[in-house]
Amino acid sequence: MPVRHNHWIGGKADEPTSGAYLPTLDPVTRQPGDEVAAGSSADVDRAVAAASAAQPEWARRSAAERSEVLHQVANAIEAGADELMELERACTGKVTGQLKMEVDMSVAYFRYYAGVLRSQHGRTIDQGGGTHTYTRLEPYGVIAVITPWNFPLNQACRGLAPALAVGNAVVAKPSEFTSTSTLHLARLATEAGLPAGLLNVVTGIGPDVGTPLAGHPAVRRIAFTGSVPTGRYLASIAAERLIPVTLELGGKSPIVVFADSPLDRAVAAAVSAVAMNAGQTCTATTRLLVEASVHDEFVARVVDVVERLEPGVDFGPMITESQFRKVLEHFATASDEGAVPATGGSAYDDGPAAQGLYIRPTVYAGVRPDLRIAREEVFGPVLVTMPFTDEADALAMANDTDYGLLASVWSGDVARGLRLAEQIDAGQVTVNGGALTIETPLGGYKQSGYGREKGLEALHEYAQTKSISLSLS
Ligand code: ADP
Repeated sequence: MPVRHNHWIGGKADEPTSGAYLPTLDPVTRQPGDEVAAGSSADVDRAVAAASAAQPEWARRSAAERSEVLHQVANAIEAGADELMELERACTGKVTGQLKMEVDMSVAYFRYYAGVLRSQHGRTIDQGGGTHTYTRLEPYGVIAVITPWNFPLNQACRGLAPALAVGNAVVAKPSEFTSTSTLHLARLATEAGLPAGLLNVVTGIGPDVGTPLAGHPAVRRIAFTGSVPTGRYLASIAAERLIPVTLELGGKSPIVVFADSPLDRAVAAAVSAVAMNAGQTCTATTRLLVEASVHDEFVARVVDVVERLEPGVDFGPMITESQFRKVLEHFATASDEGAVPATGGSAYDDGPAAQGLYIRPTVYAGVRPDLRIAREEVFGPVLVTMPFTDEADALAMANDTDYGLLASVWSGDVARGLRLAEQIDAGQVTVNGGALTIETPLGGYKQSGYGREKGLEALHEYAQTKSISLSLS
């Protein structure tokens, strides 16, 4: 019998009203895994009620007191890392290095917001001697955090930590394919001292759980990470209800490589776009734009490294069957449009990888920019390359996309690197491999969404500012 995971509501496991459970799949073996509760609006109602009941007392605590609890949650994630990694591995097939990095970052989200929380206050406003005026950062109340399947625990923590830090309660709705780590996180957080009801997790499919959650009158803000169509739909619910929403959506991010770059490092950066999480990363730099004089040589080096990546060792499978099929459909369309991959372009047909949802790391070299494979987000280990002639051409090509989540620029001329960084329409740009961490805000331009996660910006996204003025006369 598969293990059944119930919702986590009001500080305890809670059975679904429907009595039904959803299957999960191990993408490494394609065998069924644990089952998760099939949620419905009745479960959402219970979770929002628990959140609403717990939130006011939490919000009244001092920043120092909330900070201390968040540090305890971080400690609990650290102590429970092995279990969390195992749960995540079972439904994502991620390789160990990737799992470890994600759990470490989940801990760090709680530590970071536990820390900065104590230094972020309102301010006093000088209006002359007759008044005392100040602002307060106040929580919204109950926040819905709706997350996808590509970084399940990590993306949950990215939203939960700042939301809880400023005094909100949360109802989290993880992807139905990858819910177990978020459920376990909620249990660990409760055991670590987070008051019951502050972090509730309702599992199930989007229309049955995500939609009633977004539409619930007591939910005062939505944080969503996922696809453009679902983001647009949730934004329409938020617009109707006049509540704010943060949308972290897709990308087709460029990596721009000039001939004078540190090429070894640039090759490694280009390869990481396909290797890391098997390309199932919204910030993956999957459009490789290379100065024409070195394009062919550079791409040959990338292909050489990509061909040596081993499935199950260097990269994992597609996490869902539907994503696996979607990537294969992209290959078929690319082929119909006349593109021939320099390497890859298929699933594995023999060896252990053929049992799982693995896709061969793929490079389409020198593609026409109008092809679908060059324009649409594939969300798999697939790189397209295009040559550019000069700086102006590189900039035009980098910006020739509906998305704007991230860009990576490589150049021996750092002023040129920064010139491009300032002109590329994206929420984050790295030059010569600069670091993006929890401190650096993340968010989209254009179709990649709006609002910011991470950094101090996220703390402020989950708070609303109140002005209070007292007449001294
Ligand atoms: P992906 O294709 O990456 O799974 P989705 O946008 O479909 O992206 O899913 C991201 C999250 O949004 C998941 O938790 C999913 O269940 C949820 N979701 C999907 N459809 C809806 C919907 N109609 N209403 C609310 N949430 C939804």
